Amino acid sequence: MSKLSRREIVAAATAGGMLTGMARGAAAGPTVQSSGKQPIRGQDGADIIGPTNPSRQAEEPFTTAPPKTDHGTMPNLKWSFTDSHMRLEEGGWARQTTTRELPISTAMAGVNMRLKAGVAREMHWHKEAEWSYMLKGKARITAVDQQGRTFVDDVSEGDIWYFPSGIPHSIQGLDSDVDGCEFLLVFDDGHFSEDSTFLITDWLAHTPKDVLAQNFNVPESALEHLPKEELYIFPAPKPGPLANDRMGGAGPVTESFSYRMLEQPPIRTKGGTVRITDSSIFPAAKTLAAALVELEPGGLRELHWHTNGDEWQYYLEGQGRMTVFGSESKARTFDFQAGDVGYVPFAMGHYIQNTGSTPLRFLEMFRSPTYADVSLNEWVKLTPHALVRAHLKVDESLLEGLPEGKKPVLPA
Ligand code: MN
Ligand code: MN
Repeated sequence: MSKLSRREIVAAATAGGMLTGMARGAAAGPTVQSSGKQPIRGQDGADIIGPTNPSRQAEEPFTTAPPKTDHGTMPNLKWSFTDSHMRLEEGGWARQTTTRELPISTAMAGVNMRLKAGVAREMHWHKEAEWSYMLKGKARITAVDQQGRTFVDDVSEGDIWYFPSGIPHSIQGLDSDVDGCEFLLVFDDGHFSEDSTFLITDWLAHTPKDVLAQNFNVPESALEHLPKEELYIFPAPKPGPLANDRMGGAGPVTESFSYRMLEQPPIRTKGGTVRITDSSIFPAAKTLAAALVELEPGGLRELHWHTNGDEWQYYLEGQGRMTVFGSESKARTFDFQAGDVGYVPFAMGHYIQNTGSTPLRFLEMFRSPTYADVSLNEWVKLTPHALVRAHLKVDESLLEGLPEGKKPVLPA
């Protein structure tokens, strides 16, 4: 294969003989392109003569015209937040990707939220742990734990936070160049619903007034302005300096709930970078581990799988393609762009390729205290080579040429 020129590969693929997903492109080039306009691959397929959705097809070229290597019935492994219902509130919005949108995603769910400056996501808690990545802008986040220890911080682009299961917290947009903020939340249960969190106003609106009066040690008249229904997302006075919001209590939480992920020095390889942030360096994040991957044009997140559960992906920037191998000859290829969610069920092999002409950036999330993957290259490099050659019918030079140590990202 490596002896063939790109032109020969394209010609062979057009003739219907080659495995298109395996062909390597030129510098900034993707693999052999499917136009996605028609389900035609060499001699196979035929044009669509019924109704079509051309713009949708253009986003999913390998769904309409899959590579020959795709086979069998795989679950859907892609959802775009564009297709999620938007909940609009005064000064903000929220939309979610859960098992209701992407049924396979039982391990994790995501919420995308926007809060303008001053706008608060109401004080609340929930059963699931919450991990978040700040996409743009700035927010102030607060929490109080079981021992009365307090947490407050201001987070901006590339910062993450983690609130353990059941811990009450709040988020409020701050003045910024985007008027507040937008962020991604990831929960450690795919059945999560942003509409079923425990809100302070909702609770108090459904507790008898005399009980509230006794609880707060005030006459009932002091509670006459309590909201009659939940606020959820609502404008509030902008907070002052951060130092003024440090509340003391039993002191600060012992493991900070925030972390500057983008400031972490990445693993740098030819072809891109990877930042792995799990509980070994962000101790609070006990149930969710993350990797932030950046691939240069043509770069490849190498063939690998994970030993610790399902993978939930969020595409931040660029264009990418992933094929997931599900055993029993099953495989399916999906195309992704910014704002899409991808999902890889436990142990399934996969790769991700930058198919665009700009950097591809995405988050990999795992419901696990630690990040873990197995590299195909490392596995075959470290298995007796005579045995590997007997399986793959390759020359020793291929095995000798594989990198020493793990190279999660490979160049074009
Ligand atoms: Mn929350
Ligand atoms: Mn992976």
